[in-house]
Amino acid sequence: EQQRPSGPGKRRLGVMGGTFDPIHHGHLVAASEVAAQFHLDEVVFVPTGQPWQKSHKHVSLAEDRYLMTVIATASNPQFSVSRIDIDRGGPTYTIDTLRDLRDLNSDADLFFITGADALAQILTWRDAEELFSLAHFIGVTRPGHDLTDDGLPKGGVSLVEVPALAISSTDCRARVAVGEPVWYLVPDGVVRYIDKRALYRE
Ligand code: ATP
Ligand code: MG
Repeated sequence: EQQRPSGPGKRRLGVMGGTFDPIHHGHLVAASEVAAQFHLDEVVFVPTGQPWQKSHKHVSLAEDRYLMTVIATASNPQFSVSRIDIDRGGPTYTIDTLRDLRDLNSDADLFFITGADALAQILTWRDAEELFSLAHFIGVTRPGHDLTDDGLPKGGVSLVEVPALAISSTDCRARVAVGEPVWYLVPDGVVRYIDKRALYRE
């Protein structure tokens, strides 16, 4: 069990940013495990607008990614979904996500959850130094990636082991494209939604 210091009586709000194209059980397990270990009151999933790192790739419509995220999280009373990055328009920068969430939740301490691969990139993000003043960062293990806080501000980041799920959205999309199943990689409702909207069928 780990607990970070936070202000007295402050709500503890986890933030799980992602493209969620589609959301899968790796995202959900990471959020659930961090919520338990860090005694979070809530985890808000924030689907990106057009992600700047992926601007050269095809990304599904924000509305489809948003709805899949809602479907996947709806049954968990601790999970919610925010449209802030989608509604802001333009490319999504985590610094804007955190500034907006802080303004909307002045009563809360923010805990930004990120996989090992994304954590390793963080110093390349816009306004990297300021990120750590807005939220405590929690890096989680991800199969195939080394989890390290090398080069990151001391005290700004916690590293957490979560159950290993070798699932990626890229792999889910590739499977759908060739007719392979994504059952049990993503929630049942998301399998149905992908099928209903004919997503990822090249
Ligand atoms: P893509 O393959 O399209 O990049 P992805 O599976 O990496 O998709 P993202 O939406 O890019 O999913 O990831 C959102 C966040 O979830 C990132 O911080 C990422 O590191 C983390 N994450 C994704 N999959 C896992 C996993 N299987 N285990 C732990 N963390 C994960
Ligand atoms: Mg990714």
